[in-house]
Amino acid sequence: MTIAEKLKEKRTLVSCELFPPKRHLGFENAKAVIDETLALSPDFISVTYGAAGGAYKNTMGMAEYIEQNGCTALMHLTCVGSTHETIGGLIDSMRSAGIRNVLALRGDIVDGQTPKDYLHAIDLVGELKAAGGFCVGAACYPEGHVEAANQAEDIRYLKEKADAGCDFLTTQMFFDNNILYRFLYRIREAGIHTPVFAGIMPVTNKAQIKRIVEVSGTALPPRFQNILDKFGEDERAMQQAGIAYAIEQIIDLIANGVRGVHIYTMNKPAVARQIIEGIDAVVRAVS
Ligand code: FAD
Repeated sequence: MTIAEKLKEKRTLVSCELFPPKRHLGFENAKAVIDETLALSPDFISVTYGAAGGAYKNTMGMAEYIEQNGCTALMHLTCVGSTHETIGGLIDSMRSAGIRNVLALRGDIVDGQTPKDYLHAIDLVGELKAAGGFCVGAACYPEGHVEAANQAEDIRYLKEKADAGCDFLTTQMFFDNNILYRFLYRIREAGIHTPVFAGIMPVTNKAQIKRIVEVSGTALPPRFQNILDKFGEDERAMQQAGIAYAIEQIIDLIANGVRGVHIYTMNKPAVARQIIEGIDAVVRAVS
């Protein structure tokens, strides 16, 4: 089933995200994690695409396995280092593997890299739509993408990307829901009416969040910073507090009418389970 079809069928969707094992390891190494995530019955499971596409076979293998096991898969695909020929081949392979949902991304440009046939994600969105048969999503950034001069410019490009045929958008993580509400207001005002999945990251260790903030520029509100300061060195306490924070964020989002919550579960099905169990009655109440 496509995510667009699911959005028509159900009021509130909750999804999880997994990443593939490194290229030299087969995707079979991730089967236990996938099986545990499948057991949580999320509305779909997304699988990230390794930087520069190094582990693409594992991404596709995982997405195919998820579909074969009765759950909708969303395959991430980056284009910045690719040629039209490579992407054309991947489109054919996704179709043969029964993968119908794709998150079309540019990918990060690494130092010294020159983009090949694709400059921006919009090019990939257009190509997937022209190929036909795919439900296409794309990324968006409630705090602005790190390369954007300002948020107005970022939203202008987002509008072009959405108009190229996005069926949905998924946000970068954020830790202050007001940032998302302001962003939703601004994009609707700019004429973007594409459904938006709110990306929620359960932070379970301090080192992880330090890296994320460096790369994405995501702001840490004082309430969250206090938790990190107090419990960051205590693994179990940080895990408990990080999960509780994510649950609280999700409940507030759903209470305010957000229809899609995408949990960056990062191959931690035990964390995903606690969150999904912590919101199950709330999600049922609005389904
Ligand atoms: P774009 O939409 O191309 O935007 C990138 C920048 O270019 C922005 O600043 C934008 O304002 C600007 N821009 C857009 N269009 C134009 C235009 N026409 N002209 C000029 N400027 C333009 N990375 C991975 O490697 N693998 C993954 O699996 C992955 N999954 C992700 C999932 C989500 C939900 C998110 C939010 C990010 C993910 N990323 C992933 C990271 C992503 O690849 C990077 O953030 C990347 O730097 C931008 O990708 P994009 O698709 O948003 O790019």
